[in-house]
Amino acid sequence: MTFEEIGIESKYIKAIEELGFEKPMPVQEKVIPHLIKDDSPDIIALAQTGTGKTAAFGLPLIQKSNPRTKHVQHLILCPTRELCLQISNDLAEYSKYDKEIKSTAVFGGASIERQITIIRKGVHIISATPGRLLDLIKRKVVKISKIKTVVLDEADEMLNMGFRDELEAILAETPKEKNTLLFSATMPSEVRKMANKFMNNPIEITIGKKNVGAENVKHESYIVHARDRYLALKRIADYYPDIYGIIFCRTRKETQEVADRLIQDGYNADSLHGDLSQPQRDKVMGKFRIKNISLLVATDVAARGLDVDNLTHIINYNLPDDLEVYTHRSGRTGRAGRLGTSIVIANMKEKNKLKQIERQINKKFDNKLVPLGKDICEKQLFHLVDRMERVEVNNERINAFLPAIMQKLEWLDREELIKRFVSVEFNRFLDYYKNTPDLNAPAAERKRGDQKRSAGKRAADGFTRFFINLGKTDDLRPVDIIGMINDYTNIRDIDIGEIDIKKNFSFFEADQTYTEEIMKGFKKKDFKKREINVEVAENTKRESSSDSHKGKRKRSFKKESTKPRPKYKRRKRK
Ligand code: AMP
Repeated sequence: MTFEEIGIESKYIKAIEELGFEKPMPVQEKVIPHLIKDDSPDIIALAQTGTGKTAAFGLPLIQKSNPRTKHVQHLILCPTRELCLQISNDLAEYSKYDKEIKSTAVFGGASIERQITIIRKGVHIISATPGRLLDLIKRKVVKISKIKTVVLDEADEMLNMGFRDELEAILAETPKEKNTLLFSATMPSEVRKMANKFMNNPIEITIGKKNVGAENVKHESYIVHARDRYLALKRIADYYPDIYGIIFCRTRKETQEVADRLIQDGYNADSLHGDLSQPQRDKVMGKFRIKNISLLVATDVAARGLDVDNLTHIINYNLPDDLEVYTHRSGRTGRAGRLGTSIVIANMKEKNKLKQIERQINKKFDNKLVPLGKDICEKQLFHLVDRMERVEVNNERINAFLPAIMQKLEWLDREELIKRFVSVEFNRFLDYYKNTPDLNAPAAERKRGDQKRSAGKRAADGFTRFFINLGKTDDLRPVDIIGMINDYTNIRDIDIGEIDIKKNFSFFEADQTYTEEIMKGFKKKDFKKREINVEVAENTKRESSSDSHKGKRKRSFKKESTKPRPKYKRRKRK
């Protein structure tokens, strides 16, 4: 379909073609034909940012505006000043070849006098944040008694931000016969209530799936004690040396505290929250956009206006009170065809919230283990080495200094030289992570939490018992086994039963359904340069081949199993 076929006039098509719009996007195909009509129906469109919704309502509104009347004809309400400005800039672009149509943006935090002057000159379309618009209505600068259309853009965001009273007050002033359009990424009950109250038999249009997180986003959870939240955050940040992300906190105070601690600890971080003035916020956002800051600690409200496409991570330092907000947070990564990761740092008590979110986004969290100090050191070391390999050498400049440098370092051989250069950067990680603890909420504790929720779910006899040729002498820990099962099978919800670490070998139990996958996954794998050998132990419920080694292992297992064995059990995540 073309823009012409869905009813857009040529002067607007010319303008949007210059913007690179070749054909309508799905939301435009679905919405524009309804809106272009004089008696268009009320419409609810479930569409996320980036789907082309601005043109879906913007083009018809421009086309339907009557330049001869001076009063406001169409009203677009949106949650943030940035979105307001973006909408009015887009409208100006679309009407580039129709100079008679005037639109403007009004929002709080900017001079109201200037906005009044512009409106008094006559505008046809206003994009506004609810608070400021209400102010202008009360001052009788904006008269909305004759408006034809109200667009509620990002309705869920506006309600999340507490604009309900303002929206209701504004809508109460509008004429009954107006056309109402509601755009929202999600449909929580509050939005539904508002639609029921103010809309007239709306048509419902869904772009993509309802309430589904972006396709390119991986969702990961890390379960730690609440007191270890900050340390876990640092470990995650350190484990991803190229991280460029937003860390979401719940309150302004928490946002500032986390940012302060990160800055103090040497991270490229800053804060964004409502206690900062608008110029301060603009400055922070500017620095973040150009990647002068790689970690932005923000509240949901303050981050609304920030539109950055290439974030690698979203970190939920604390989950939002309203879990629907998680969708918005995570949708800020995985954009423009890139992959992104949305991380939740949670404590044991928050596991139910994770379940709720899983239902909401229709995806599972990958429960990851907080990296250990040694994992981080290894990752950072190789990152450094990679950088060293890829660095561009300015021969012309450096050659001048080279003879003197060579002479000074003459006494060092190649190995020593590399060690020293690498250590210059790397020592701070080594020092910091020396003897640091495992931050993961202990497996035993996980088990207790899980059992409470899923008591009596699965009997232990559905498990296969495996032998593995690694033990205490290899520094093997239960978390290593869990990690290997996850990584080597690529299946994240295998039930793991008892893990029994011996001196030179160990046993572990896992859901017998996955016996083959586990056997296959562990083939030809190394652990600390030792080849791993995994076999099915004989006393398992499942039939196994009669291998002469197994008899021995069975005996040794039986002998040692008379002592109480530690149990590490992880239940299936739903
Ligand atoms: P929006 O969801 O309105 O923020 O739009 C997302 C992006 O898609 C904006 O950069 C628009 O300029 C762009 N866009 C909107 N409609 C089209 C179209 N039909 N073809 C190409 N790009 C578009």
